[in-house]
Amino acid sequence: MKDEIVIDLFNPYSRLFPNRKLVDKGTLELIKHLRTEGYTIKIKPDNEVPLQYLFKKGYHEFFTDPVYIFFAGAASSVVTTLIANGIQKVFDKWGKSSSNTINNNVIIINKTTNETINIVNQPISKGEINDKRKKVKTNAERFKQCFSMVSPYPNLQTPIYLEHKPQIVGWGRLDLDNNGLVVEESIILDKIVRKKIRSGKIKGLSVTGISETSICSICESDYVQCNHIAGETYNNVMCANELHESIFIEVSLVCVPINEKCLIKMI
Ligand SMILES: [Zn+2]
Repeated sequence: MKDEIVIDLFNPYSRLFPNRKLVDKGTLELIKHLRTEGYTIKIKPDNEVPLQYLFKKGYHEFFTDPVYIFFAGAASSVVTTLIANGIQKVFDKWGKSSSNTINNNVIIINKTTNETINIVNQPISKGEINDKRKKVKTNAERFKQCFSMVSPYPNLQTPIYLEHKPQIVGWGRLDLDNNGLVVEESIILDKIVRKKIRSGKIKGLSVTGISETSICSICESDYVQCNHIAGETYNNVMCANELHESIFIEVSLVCVPINEKCLIKMI
């Protein structure tokens, strides 16, 4: 039997949705990869709170928030290589490349040797880890402040964020139609953002939410618990992650939306 790996996930909305264990697409695919390799994965804190799927439909989400991975016993390099390969797999699929920030956001802690490294086997100092923890807390606090802001426009009540960061750049009206959530009308207050929309640099929308129940279309069990990956085919059947009972969190303008139909138009 292989070792157990403990993962401490970051909940950017902890001030608004406390006591939740949220996992995003990239991290979940990494977890599924590790489980497929025979590792037992525990999510911190080890309590009865169910793991829930945090969806964001933008490419920038992958490993942009710190993930802490703890293990004991095995050789660091084996686990590190496995994690690095898992992340590479996720990136290859989405045509994204890793960066120093991403490498340093995956913090691997060997509980036996007390060694702390990133996915390219470089040491990460305690100072750096503390800075990351502080940043996480500050971001959660900033999101809480954003959520309590009141729109100056009576008909545009939904805040519009930029790249899922705790920064409101405009206000809009959100409606539900046959295709899902749509921003019917909006005002973008940030001048630089307006310029980037005009030049086509920012061109899409992305919604963040928590799916309280997500079901795998292949095995019909809880998608966060099984090892199938949405978008991959199993016996010629493509796996889909069916999101049920979702809670809307925020809508962001993004440079590259995952859903290429999710585009914006400036008028
Ligand atoms: Zn499944």
